[in-house]
Amino acid sequence: MGIPDGSPMNMSGPTKVCVIGAGLSGTELVFQLSKLGIDVVVYEARLNGTYKDGAHDTEKFAELVCSNSLRSNKLHTAPGLLKEELRLYGSLLIGSADRNSIPAGDALAVSREDFSEELTKKVFSLPNVKVIPEEVKDLKDLLGIYDAVCVCAGPLASPAISAELKELTGDEYLYFYDAIAPLVSAGSLNMDVCFKASRYGIPGEEGGDYINCPLTEQQYHAFVKELLDAKKAPLHEGDEGVFFRGCMPIEAMAEDSPLMLLNGPMRGDGLIDPKNYSVPYSAVQLRQDNLCASIYNMVGFQTRLTYGEQERIFRTIPGMENAEFLRYGSMHRNTFINAPKVLGPDMSLLAEPKLFVSGQICGVEGYIESIASAFYTADGVSRRVLGRPLFEFPKITAMGSLKHYLAASDHSQFQPMKMNFGLLPPLNDAEKREFVERGNRKHQTRLALSKRSINCLKKIFGLN
Ligand SMILES: Cc1cc2nc3c(=O)[nH]c(=O)nc-3n(C[C@H](O)[C@H](O)[C@H](O)COP(=O)(O)OP(=O)(O)OC[C@H]3O[C@@H](n4cnc5c(N)ncnc54)[C@H](O)[C@@H]3O)c2cc1C
Repeated sequence: MGIPDGSPMNMSGPTKVCVIGAGLSGTELVFQLSKLGIDVVVYEARLNGTYKDGAHDTEKFAELVCSNSLRSNKLHTAPGLLKEELRLYGSLLIGSADRNSIPAGDALAVSREDFSEELTKKVFSLPNVKVIPEEVKDLKDLLGIYDAVCVCAGPLASPAISAELKELTGDEYLYFYDAIAPLVSAGSLNMDVCFKASRYGIPGEEGGDYINCPLTEQQYHAFVKELLDAKKAPLHEGDEGVFFRGCMPIEAMAEDSPLMLLNGPMRGDGLIDPKNYSVPYSAVQLRQDNLCASIYNMVGFQTRLTYGEQERIFRTIPGMENAEFLRYGSMHRNTFINAPKVLGPDMSLLAEPKLFVSGQICGVEGYIESIASAFYTADGVSRRVLGRPLFEFPKITAMGSLKHYLAASDHSQFQPMKMNFGLLPPLNDAEKREFVERGNRKHQTRLALSKRSINCLKKIFGLN
């Protein structure tokens, strides 16, 4: 479907746009620009075979660096709504995620290898796209060559790009820390101890989607004590431990309160251990990570413990005594710009109007939010190079409310944002009458917000 409207007004000769980084937003952006008939040159550092940023492991486009989940698919959740809207906008990545999904209850989890493989092939097959397997080290050079340059270098943007963005944005180039969860091989888990179940699934139901490791109260407290005493990897010199709220390392949660993990990644409630038909005091959940179910990731177990400590301490979790770690958890410094202060409505930098940004670096947070931002940038770039009017992403939709957050939130305390219902304007009385059904109030209000949004987009796309 793409971004609506757009009879191009200025089609005098082919325009060339450069995209730096074929991660989640870069891959979507390249596809959307290509669909609009714009010639695109995309630089991807990881294709040069030597570039490393400490989180990406492959030379594939749109690599999911940590979790393989694109979060809930349910319409009464904010990520569910954002994904549904992205489907209406014709998102390449969400389409690919749907095709490469693997079981994960209500969540859209994907086989990360198949997802990236399909997207890499797709970009290479686009006739008006050229891929350059290089790290960009000089933005100014590119600004002299292309009609527009889009920085999609992600939260771990290379040092050279980071330095240039810092020069252009000064103190408005910010950072926070977040961390990756470990991956383990399924064959190394002790299934005499672990059990398969989805949270709130039917007790004893054959094969729930998750593998669960149950802990008694005593085992939980012993585990937390080990976490608190464990060795942690150091932060960058001069940095403070500013962690992203939705992605706190488990040891940081335990430091806040020894019981905090029981309300987070070590919740036991909603699970029934079929060995004794009781709810475990606590549980560690593992989610399938590839199509053939040979790899599982430890849900919510992002950590900055040293690798040795991860092996030692995580192997005290019942069922993980012999766990084989295929990837260790690790911590990363994420950078982003103060969007409301330094970006124009078309996603270009006020200080350098030929330079556009997209992805997490522009101040959204999360896989699907990074994908969403590619549509804002595709829209801005197409206005610049094709003379199309900017599309008003409606504020009552997830896409519009997230864009509005980037444009209009308080820049003195700006932080990257995940999609959430708090961004959407509340329902007015007429909308309540039209969209709210009977039932659980919170659930129905959220569902109504989603229905209002989808209804609005369907009207715009002529789908009603
Ligand atoms: C460690 C970590 C874990 C995360 N875990 C999750 C998670 O579990 N769930 C979630 O929803 N979000 C997570 N995020 C947040 C975010 O959603 C992802 O980082 C997401 O991939 C961001 O998309 P992006 O397109 O902005 O950047 P990326 O997907 O990172 O893409 C950036 C691309 O730019 C390339 N690049 C960088 N510099 C250059 C250069 N100079 N020249 C050429 N190419 C360059 C990189 O190689 C990369 O391919 C995590 C982030 C980090 C850092």
